[in-house]
Amino acid sequence: MIFGAHESIAGGVFNAVERGKAATCDTIQMFNKSNNQWRAKKLTGDEVEQFFKAIETTGVTVSVSHTSYLINIASPDKALAEKSFQSLKEEMERCAVLKIPNLVMHPGSHVGSGEEAGLKAIAKHINRMFSELKDNNVTLLLETTAGQGTNLGYTFEQLAYIIDKIENKGKMGVCLDTCHIFSAGYPIVKPKDYRATMKKFDEVLGLELLKIIHANDSLREFGLKRDRHEHIGEGHIGKAGFANFVNDRRLKKIPMILETPKGEDLKEDKRNLKILRGLVKK
Ligand SMILES: [Zn+2]
Ligand SMILES: [Zn+2]
Repeated sequence: MIFGAHESIAGGVFNAVERGKAATCDTIQMFNKSNNQWRAKKLTGDEVEQFFKAIETTGVTVSVSHTSYLINIASPDKALAEKSFQSLKEEMERCAVLKIPNLVMHPGSHVGSGEEAGLKAIAKHINRMFSELKDNNVTLLLETTAGQGTNLGYTFEQLAYIIDKIENKGKMGVCLDTCHIFSAGYPIVKPKDYRATMKKFDEVLGLELLKIIHANDSLREFGLKRDRHEHIGEGHIGKAGFANFVNDRRLKKIPMILETPKGEDLKEDKRNLKILRGLVKK
């Protein structure tokens, strides 16, 4: 199995790779720019070179980048939707420069316009983006969400509805967040429930669309639609739930990435990764 964590780019994008190494990651997720700003200054040749060098010297790969939390291409506010679109497009371009194969985004929030209108707006913007970025080979992943507020993407059907409307389906994928699906009401703790949930994923979306797993325990109880990440084994999913994922042979090549709280010394990442690796049956 491939294990890793989301690592900070503070001080430069190459630092995420170095932090990944220090945290014992095989692979990492990172932002490609500050996650609370709309625009970023262009990556310099030096930064890009340093980034590739860090990957080469550490052996840590970068599987995926996560979009800024500001982006909402489902917004009924035209100006905000356009700003989100431009920002998403820029992130796709930055991933291409950094040779990061996947960019994961939360589908968006309909903010009162209704679920169907929101899902349609998302598909429309993604189609436009791919038509404007013909030479870009980054795969755009939609993340399963917990369904807080008016967030879309809390059912596999909603993600399938969006992807079905995308002309260039080959450029789409899915990121499954364990905390989010558990919180959205998909049981994964008992082996038989886990199997049923993954069967549903396969039937509705297709396992071949699954590119990344976010391995987060859930601070809150099952089905509450609350997105609160907890350390592995300390939440309501527990070690039993994660044992299902790490021993599922179909997921052997799917990076499992932590998005759990951490301090600067990354000891929490090291501990969580040790627990995940320890759950793999020999
Ligand atoms: Zn996310
Ligand atoms: Zn996530």
